[in-house]
Amino acid sequence: MSVQLLGLPQDNNSSYLAGPAAAPAAIRDALHCDSSNLSTECGLDLGDTGLWRDAGDAPLAGLAGQAAYDGIAAALIPCLDAGPTLALGGDHSVSWPCIATTVERWPGLSVLHLDAHPDLYDDMQGNPFSHASPFARLLESGAVSRLVQVGIRTLNRHQAEQAERFGVDIIPMREIERAHTLSFDTPVYLSLDLDVLDPAFAPGVSHHEPGGLSTRDVIRLIQRVKGRVVGADLVELNPTRDLNGVTAMTAAKLAKELIARLHRDADPR
Ligand code: MN
Ligand code: MN
Repeated sequence: MSVQLLGLPQDNNSSYLAGPAAAPAAIRDALHCDSSNLSTECGLDLGDTGLWRDAGDAPLAGLAGQAAYDGIAAALIPCLDAGPTLALGGDHSVSWPCIATTVERWPGLSVLHLDAHPDLYDDMQGNPFSHASPFARLLESGAVSRLVQVGIRTLNRHQAEQAERFGVDIIPMREIERAHTLSFDTPVYLSLDLDVLDPAFAPGVSHHEPGGLSTRDVIRLIQRVKGRVVGADLVELNPTRDLNGVTAMTAAKLAKELIARLHRDADPR
């Protein structure tokens, strides 16, 4: 069983800036850049054949709204048939179809969501598909029973009410120590918005929110969270905001560690 990598070049649900549609290509370039290699910290070398496969990008050009949602789900299904899948956004709106499709194979799926923002808006600029709303859509559909959000530092009144309504477990930045003892007794989907990182570590995102996690903090969570990780996404890289490609390299590093984690948990011992 090899881990599948699927690009989702979509940013027309971004509320502030376009750019993340170019992220899958930028992350691939960084992954294969000669300045580093494909080793992971657990010893798995992604340069070895058969461990993972790049399934390319979903054909999303010109698609928006429900058509884009359907296009993402249609591209993800054959990937899930082949193995656990890491989806590369794209803005965070891609997580709604990704998680809704994954939960069909993993009933009882929990979601671990790393982000500066809770993305629980009932509505943003009249767009139910907004990148500020995917977790509201998933929770109101009942598809996800447990959502844990880590790194939150922008909880306004509306989203606090939404979190209360849906029973979201929020671990805000000021209580971040609790994230390192998290445990799941269900399959877990890990949704990683790069703006959970402090902008000092990841300037190439649309929404700079100071006071975030370090790259090492996020790697530690990927490597050590207790539970079986069966799917993941990495979203919100905005190459037009990047400085010397450092955020793309950071995204590639996190992608490698996510692939290693998915590979390990596909055959838990
Ligand atoms: Mn987000
Ligand atoms: Mn965010």
